[in-house]
Parts: sequence; C-alpha cells; structure tokens
Amino acid sequence: MDKNKIETFKEKLLKEERRLAEELETMHSENVNTRFNPEEYGGDGNYEDHIADAASNTFDRERDLSLEQNIQDLLAQVGDALRRIKDGTYGRCTNCDKLMAEARLRAIPYADLCIDCKEEEERHR
Ligand SMILES: [Zn+2]
Repeated sequence: MDKNKIETFKEKLLKEERRLAEELETMHSENVNTRFNPEEYGGDGNYEDHIADAASNTFDRERDLSLEQNIQDLLAQVGDALRRIKDGTYGRCTNCDKLMAEARLRAIPYADLCIDCKEEEERHR
C-alpha cells in the first residue's frame, strides 16, 4: 500500500484512539456519581427501596463495565493497528499474511484479519 494511503489510515486510527479515550474518560466521571454507596443508605426509612435501588445500580454498573470493556478492546485493536503501521505490516492479515481489501480497511481501519480469516474465526466461535 502506498505511503499516502497508510498516512490516511493512520490519521483515522489516531482520531479513533482519541475518541475512544475520551469516551472512557466521560464514562469514568459519570460513574463516580452513580456508584452505590451503602453509607448513604444508613438506617433511615424504607429498606425495600434501598435494595431495589442497589440492584438497579448494580445492573447499571455491570452494563457500564461491559461497555467499558468494549471500548478498551477497541482501543487495544486500534493500538495494534498503529503498531502494525510502524512495523510496515499494516494492511496484511495477521493470520494468513494476505493483503486485505482496501474497502475492508476503510470500513474498519483497525481490522487485523482478512475477511476470509474473520469468517473462519466466527465459524469456530
Ligand atoms: Zn487472512
């Protein structure tokens, strides 16, 4: 792949990396206020309500965690792609070493498997 194209993909990846990092940041600052704090539920009034609140907070927390996990996975993939650009192996499938279709990279700049290997991987999941 020629240098200009790689440069374009690199910019896309860096932008994506920034966006994901910001998303994580926002997620963390929001979580501080919604996290369940048992201290605040000390002895006043309705115990049942507290349990229900605690349960829904736990649910939110779990949902946030899997979302966060997702973003962290993506960040890792973007980081790997940037490393491959440095190594000069960007655009090649990390499994079969075939050059990936440019359309695939345009859709998913951090793709590490060609479409064939990706399908193969999904069949075996
Ligand atoms: Zn492949």
